[in-house]
Amino acid sequence: MRENIMIVVGLMLFSNAINSQASREGTIEIERSRILIESILSAEEQEALTPLDVFNTLAAGNERFVSNDITARDHSMQIRESAASQYPKAIVLSCIDSRVPVEDVFDKGIGDIFVARVAGNFINDDILGSMEFATKVAGAKLILVLGHENCGAIHAAIDGAKLGHITKMLKNIQPAVKISTLSEGPRTSKNRLLVHEVSENNVRLAIEKITKDSSILKTMLQNGEISIKGAVYDMDTGVVNFL
Ligand SMILES: [Zn+2]
Repeated sequence: MRENIMIVVGLMLFSNAINSQASREGTIEIERSRILIESILSAEEQEALTPLDVFNTLAAGNERFVSNDITARDHSMQIRESAASQYPKAIVLSCIDSRVPVEDVFDKGIGDIFVARVAGNFINDDILGSMEFATKVAGAKLILVLGHENCGAIHAAIDGAKLGHITKMLKNIQPAVKISTLSEGPRTSKNRLLVHEVSENNVRLAIEKITKDSSILKTMLQNGEISIKGAVYDMDTGVVNFL
């Protein structure tokens, strides 16, 4: 009898541990390969997260992506669960590059993150409006600007490419080219070190512009309601290097 009670208590503790882990990440961490995740982030779970928690879940998700250990999700169930509302934890601004599948890169699924994409991941009024919506209106706790290595838009900006609407679009990346002062090698896209420097500076300028141009986001940052981070995705390894 005593043994049975011990087993029941043990199972309850085990189950609580799983539930608490599941609610923290929106996923179940153990036996991932056999358990299909059905739940999506709830309003209460979003509310309980701090900006640092959200940063940590993105970093941990990228580690799983790099280890080829992405969480299995029941998309049909998640679609039905999320149809009426959404409580994402973060907004990621990424380039449009097909080799940077943002949700996969952070091992996130339906309802987990907002993703804004534009070639060269720069800030403009529409992107700022999207970020204000994601955070102030929808409760996301983290803004992440995600550049990537070997970016075609960065290459084109360095080389001063001109074609249709691309010409005007590249003006948004030119400030990052201007402040990149690497003296080694040619000032063309063939110079990998220069491309790397411009990519990082482009992310840094985007972060600066967010608080310079949006008083809403600046105030939220000052109050600790959100965090704003930058990172560059490594094409060779899948690693997100936070700046
Ligand atoms: Zn790109």
